[in-house]
Amino acid sequence: MTRIGFIGLGNMGGPMAANLVRAGHRVQVFDLVPESLSRAIAAGCIATADAREAVSDCDLVISMMPAGEHVRSLWLGEGSGEQGGQDLLAALPAGTLVIDCSTIDVASARRVGEAAKSRGIRFIDAPVSGGVAGATAGTLTFIVGGEAADFEAARPVLACMGQNLFHAGALGAGQIAKMCNNMLLAIHMAGTAEALALGVKEGLDPAVLSTIMGKSSGNNWSLERYNPWPGVMENAPASRNYQGGFMTRLMVKDLGLAMALAEHAHSAVPMGALARNLFNLHAAKGPDTRDFSSIVELYRDAELDQTKAG
Ligand code: NAD
Repeated sequence: MTRIGFIGLGNMGGPMAANLVRAGHRVQVFDLVPESLSRAIAAGCIATADAREAVSDCDLVISMMPAGEHVRSLWLGEGSGEQGGQDLLAALPAGTLVIDCSTIDVASARRVGEAAKSRGIRFIDAPVSGGVAGATAGTLTFIVGGEAADFEAARPVLACMGQNLFHAGALGAGQIAKMCNNMLLAIHMAGTAEALALGVKEGLDPAVLSTIMGKSSGNNWSLERYNPWPGVMENAPASRNYQGGFMTRLMVKDLGLAMALAEHAHSAVPMGALARNLFNLHAAKGPDTRDFSSIVELYRDAELDQTKAG
């Protein structure tokens, strides 16, 4: 049994913490949202009054926050307000292993990792892929940046939450790989939505078209595992009005990170840039808290407009 502190119990962190409890670990948790804490208690986690208490007496601490500013605020004490000024690194004894699973900018990951190292605390950036379904089933992919020895030390705990564990390289490499992945995800989700909308406008059943493309060369994760068309896939966010899942605003954040990375690398990313514009447009129509597969509505609106015009 490992004593684990877990901060950030949202769509992803909640089920991840529950899987750690299921695997027999002692998990102390904190989130700013009381309902998330209640769900974690029901899953067998130990709720605490604040982040500092959550990380006390722990061998290993995991954070699963929305973005870089939350991670810097939590670990370095940057910023102000209810999320600011925590400086949690200062509360940890040397030797503690910190695993940040949030998807954040490379610079923030490196800053927190280097600050941790200067205090003798081990840190890896370990963003995940696999969505809420993967977090719930314990089948996430972990993409890790940091020292190889720290990756190995984290492996038994990561294995309670995921099936595929990758060491991408040095500190920050996990975030770089994750950004490449999410840029590709945005592109194939938008492309899948576009193809489905075209077929439906020409009279095809979206489920039949999905089955055909799923067995053909157009097959991809968005089509096969996360179908954006309502009713095609019972367990996909599209079939529950895009609630839960991966919020559009988080995809917009990730595409912004990918664009910054491309600028840094002087790398041309025309498809990624287009996807970013599409998701920005969609987010602006709101609400941007719905799952990102709701991008299909950009195309479905056009369909409705055409019907009205006809
Ligand atoms: P979320 O918004 O549902 O959860 C984030 C949680 O962090 C919230 O519950 C929030 O209250 C909490 N939080 C923020 N600041 C805090 C603080 N100072 N102290 C305690 N709690 C705090 O987001 P999510 O969907 O769970 O995503 C989390 C991260 O994982 C993001 O970086 C996202 O990009 C990434 N991600 C999400 C998915 C997905 O499918 N949802 C998939 C892969 C990666």
